[in-house]
Amino acid sequence: DAAISLDAVRKTYQRGEPVHALDGVTLDISRGSYTAIMGPSGSGKSTLMNLIGCLDTPTSGAVIVDGKDVSQLSGRERTRLRGTEIGFVFQTFNLMPRLTALGNVALPQVFQGIDRRERRKRARDLLERVGIADRADHFPNELSGGQRQRVALARALVNDPVLVLADEPSGNLDTETEAQVLDLFAEFHDAGTTLIVVTHERHVAERADRIVHLLDGAIQRIEPVEPSDRSV
Ligand code: ADP
Ligand code: ADP
Repeated sequence: DAAISLDAVRKTYQRGEPVHALDGVTLDISRGSYTAIMGPSGSGKSTLMNLIGCLDTPTSGAVIVDGKDVSQLSGRERTRLRGTEIGFVFQTFNLMPRLTALGNVALPQVFQGIDRRERRKRARDLLERVGIADRADHFPNELSGGQRQRVALARALVNDPVLVLADEPSGNLDTETEAQVLDLFAEFHDAGTTLIVVTHERHVAERADRIVHLLDGAIQRIEPVEPSDRSV
């Protein structure tokens, strides 16, 4: 069964001339699947991610997340869905400047009612898995771009979200760190997490089960990735 269904989704931005950022997108994303989204700049990738992530609603058509029509939810219900089910790994890291790396990663668990000791333990574990445990006590302004990106990644994964949405998750990373991040995604995939990753990089996309190619707000084609072709 589908974790996410998009049915004839249109998103039109009305700023002067109307722009059809998405124009009739129909797509099912099954539970536990790993989908890459590729397409040139302006093809609608960010708009699609914002809709799937319940940050926005379509102009027409339906976005169904976990059986719920996102357009029918109140703002509060959408916020709840985002907070409890979805891990966002977006370009804007939005780290809290007054919290350390560890504090930032521990923060989402506060809202889950997890006690402080357990929060710090899990946060440290995630920082280890993204390879920056040695920076746990540093503040965001003491970290490089790639390190901040990994803190944001650890924060997105710390609550074990059922759905992970990542926009260029390895964009600023060196080869070794990128491999580490992609291996971490593979671990979450193996554990049953649904993953959707926007990327410009073919070798990143090939870690997924299939690649959705967007062009001018529409799905141009869906390319399955054969297990034998899958990057490791
Ligand atoms: P996205 O679909 O995520 O917006 P883009 O294709 O627009 O991706 O851009 C890819 C990367 O290049 C992003 O990190 C974005 O911030 C950066 N970028 C896009 N446009 C510009 C620009 N005009 N100048 C500098 N960086 C840009
Ligand atoms: P991508 O992520 O593939 O670069 P986007 O989803 O960001 O594509 O953008 C798709 C189209 O929608 C582009 O033509 C872009 O200029 C337009 N667009 C995106 N966001 C807005 C917005 N908030 N207001 C007006 N136009 C927008």
